[in-house]
Amino acid sequence: MIDISNLHTGLFIGGEWRAAGDTFTTLNPATGRPLAELAAAGPDDVDAAVAAASSAYRGDWGTLAPSRKGAMLHKLADLVERDLDQLAALESLDMGRPVGMGAALMIPNFVATLRYYAGWADKINGELISNDGYLGGPVPTHAYTRRDPLGVVAAIVPWNAPLMILGWKLAPALACGNAVIIKPSEDASLSILRLAELIDEAGFPPGTVNVLTGAGKVTGEALARHPRIQKISFTGSTEVGRSILQNSAVNFKRTALELGGKAPQIIFDDANLEAAIQGSAMGLFFNQGEVCAAGTRIIAHRKVYEAVLEGLKGAAEAQTIGDPFDSTTTMGPLVNARQRDRVLGYMRKGADEGADVITGGTAPDGPGFFVHPTVMAGRNDMSVAREEIFGPVGVVISFDSDDEAVAMANDNQYGLSATVWTSDVTRAHTISAQIEAGAIGVNGWSPLAPQLPWGGVKASGVGRELGYEGILSYTEPKTITIIL
Ligand code: NAD
Repeated sequence: MIDISNLHTGLFIGGEWRAAGDTFTTLNPATGRPLAELAAAGPDDVDAAVAAASSAYRGDWGTLAPSRKGAMLHKLADLVERDLDQLAALESLDMGRPVGMGAALMIPNFVATLRYYAGWADKINGELISNDGYLGGPVPTHAYTRRDPLGVVAAIVPWNAPLMILGWKLAPALACGNAVIIKPSEDASLSILRLAELIDEAGFPPGTVNVLTGAGKVTGEALARHPRIQKISFTGSTEVGRSILQNSAVNFKRTALELGGKAPQIIFDDANLEAAIQGSAMGLFFNQGEVCAAGTRIIAHRKVYEAVLEGLKGAAEAQTIGDPFDSTTTMGPLVNARQRDRVLGYMRKGADEGADVITGGTAPDGPGFFVHPTVMAGRNDMSVAREEIFGPVGVVISFDSDDEAVAMANDNQYGLSATVWTSDVTRAHTISAQIEAGAIGVNGWSPLAPQLPWGGVKASGVGRELGYEGILSYTEPKTITIIL
């Protein structure tokens, strides 16, 4: 466990901590008991944060030399690294993931993203563009683009990996010279509040980064509607993404929407079966299955179907469910009671629709929002195979031909990511090319790295984060043409 009594719980605006007109209580998902009382930002607080961010953007942050911006991102990365265990513990306390998982993967990913974009800060260039001359010639022109920052941008973040997902927004936004307002999820704000303290310690000019805790319907919606915010980068549910897109229309905000998923994992009969089973189990149960890229549709060739079912059953039953701070725990509680009930509802619905529950399907007795990891044998048209559950529930489906596997993979509203398990390199490329998704892993679930663009197609959203795409998405090209 970790002591949070010294953590700031107000709003971080213009480099200062302040109270809001209202507060809300968060719960510890492992016990169901109250954890913290946090400030709930209202529309006036959003206005204040926009004013602070605008003045940083036009002033001390915006005018700071690009290499100094990069140095500040490195400094922040150093502080996050110094406090890595504390930040991992805050996330586990808030949202339930086993603490070692955050310390080994999510917080290091955040550090890596900060450092990757620190390197970009002084390498953001436009282009010199050859052209036919003024109005088609013969007078020549000297034409080029600049890539300017957007201004004030807002990052609206979910609870399942707060700092890691925030990093995909914050680091490129700052590297490009924007000022940022962060809205954490009401279910997991603590690590981001601690980050605000580190931003202060790193010496960022006041207002460069602001943090507004609060309700999605109030704080989040006020950000989406605000006329002086130039971009919203949102990660969360498809339904909220749609409302953000509508609200952003007020001033034609740029939007990046990283939404839900229902990722297929296709296991061919030529795959290394042991690796495919272990890897696809990871894709199912990692982070309690509360992952947008969770590989919850296991589409297995009929020849290996029974072996895959048996292997995943074993992997589910080998999970140790319990206290996120116990080092033997591999699966913590779900984030809140609503999420637990939703997941249990899907487990019942799967059985009602005729899926065969191979293991799990229930919740353990006792306090906290735990469920048993669950594997079902089912079909691609069942609700459990069509809808995002966001919990440790997988459906195993059989196929006979490559075409059938691809058709099943694509027969879903989502298109975030997919995994292909095969030892045939030609099949790896041809199947990957045919799958409708933003990111495909071959022989490994969800490869994530700051250099690799990430984002979805179809109902999984619009826009890409990470890599050079991240730089493009936080800058606006401007064309300048000098008639010679
Ligand atoms: P959510 O959509 O309920 O909330 C996400 C954030 O949006 C929170 O900060 C919330 O307060 C805010 N919000 C809620 N209503 C809002 C509104 N009307 N206007 C503005 N902001 C609002 O999602 P969640 O439950 O926190 O996260 C789970 C969802 O996130 C899942 O659907 C999952 O697939 C998705 N997700 C996607 C990715 C990705 O990269 N594509 C990554 C992680 C999670």
